[in-house]
Amino acid sequence: MQTKFVVVLGSVMSGLGKGVATSSILKILSFYGYKVLPVKFDGYLNYDCGTMNPYRHGEVFVLDDKSEVDMDFGMYERFLGKDLSGELSITGGKLFSEIIAKERRGDFLGADVQIIPHLTNQIIEKIEGIARRHKLDVLVIEVGGTVGDIENSYFIEAMRQLALKYKTVFIDVTYIPKLGVVGEQKTKPTQYAFKTIMGSGIIPNYIFCRASEPIEEKTKNKISLYTNLEAERIIDDSDLKTLYRLPLHLIEQGFDKMLIKDLGLERRKIDGEKLKGWREIVEKIENPKRRINIALVGKYTELKDAYISVREALTHAGAKLDAGVNIKWVESSDLENGDLSLLNGVDGIIVPGGFGSRGIEGKINAIRFARENKIPYLGLCLGMQLMVVEYARNVCNLKGANSTEFDPKTRHNVIDLIPSQRKVKLKGATMRLGAWKCKIINTNSIAYRAYRKKIISERHRHRYEVNNRYRRILEKKGLVITGVTPDNKLVETVEWRDSFGIGTQAHPELKSKVEEPAPLFVSFVEASLKRSGEK
Ligand code: GLN
Repeated sequence: MQTKFVVVLGSVMSGLGKGVATSSILKILSFYGYKVLPVKFDGYLNYDCGTMNPYRHGEVFVLDDKSEVDMDFGMYERFLGKDLSGELSITGGKLFSEIIAKERRGDFLGADVQIIPHLTNQIIEKIEGIARRHKLDVLVIEVGGTVGDIENSYFIEAMRQLALKYKTVFIDVTYIPKLGVVGEQKTKPTQYAFKTIMGSGIIPNYIFCRASEPIEEKTKNKISLYTNLEAERIIDDSDLKTLYRLPLHLIEQGFDKMLIKDLGLERRKIDGEKLKGWREIVEKIENPKRRINIALVGKYTELKDAYISVREALTHAGAKLDAGVNIKWVESSDLENGDLSLLNGVDGIIVPGGFGSRGIEGKINAIRFARENKIPYLGLCLGMQLMVVEYARNVCNLKGANSTEFDPKTRHNVIDLIPSQRKVKLKGATMRLGAWKCKIINTNSIAYRAYRKKIISERHRHRYEVNNRYRRILEKKGLVITGVTPDNKLVETVEWRDSFGIGTQAHPELKSKVEEPAPLFVSFVEASLKRSGEK
């Protein structure tokens, strides 16, 4: 059977949640048992987003295969419950570097190399390759950016051409503003955007309307009138209590049946068990039995998207334990003057990953506060490194202990560059990236109780590590090393002995799925729940 395609475009403005719409479409099709995968187009000229600032662009997501990809991949994986590969991320940077390499090799001898047909053909060939290799029923393509941008115009042109060859359904995710408190839902921006899309030779089959409140019938009818689409194809995608409800919300509108019919897919029954399981989780997220407060002590707290995987992993773990997790976003530099009252009353503390020295001392203060007050602590990558620094300074009495990332001249470099990183000159894709194995060497540990197995695999993104020369003194003073790489060269997890505190060099949040929460997050939420009950 030939692969069919769904192409998700965005209009009016960015940041509408095309990733959530794409993920929901994937999930719906997978409920029917169709074989699906996503592809994301990003028009920027970076090769990948590994060198971008998460404060501006949002979290850099890492896949098992070391790819550093757009944070939408996190959404696809959380919904689909599948680990994806880097070939599904197609950026302007990758395409242009490939096409220029081909040109230098002489692949186009005699021709002047152009966006159309050379670049567009390159895009279509990639898409066809993915569809063929994975024997897909449906490939769902999310086009980054907004229709009308120069950046994604060649992707959109390629999609127009794709539709000439294969069954392709287009979805436009748009925004319906409402002026004033009791104002009217405005459709004009969507009407103009629709014209722009039609100007590219594409007629969307559905319009997903993002809005703060449900789309009114009269709004749907108006959009229908101006776009030639039946009103049932104007889909309500207004804010929901949790974004994980969107697949259910789309099914309630009959979108699943229409889409399957449009694509000409063989008719199948939805897997009722899977759907029921998903619905139960969504209801638990929406109506938790109890609530806990977790402080997330970060540097980029103004842009919460920088920590989206941590936030979602807490939601997944909370749903499993029937608990809602309120995140208290604490800016680490606000803790530097020693006043930690912002942390009063929290049930758990997380220091997530990060780079650069701003706010480091505030994070260390937070970790000390957690340790001394026996507040459950979870340290993720940098949060683990600083857990070691705090322990070295305040328990092992190693004055001025630090990571050489922040103090290259420290007397006690308890955290130091991984030796293989010393010769690294280029910045792109040169960190210790992707899935690495960790051996849990102590079964009486938080790590073992969480994972229930001795060899685990988690994703990484770092250049620094625990300095092995300090392992002995740290352990002698009570810090427990519970996980190492199978060759014992790198420390992977450390724990406190007297209360719940674990730091991991990995980013377990990157593997957390709605239906399969990250084990360490489940243990952490469990410990925080216990703590909140004791208050
Ligand atoms: N900056 C630290 C390192 O490179 C931690 C990285 C991270 O938290 N992802 O090792």
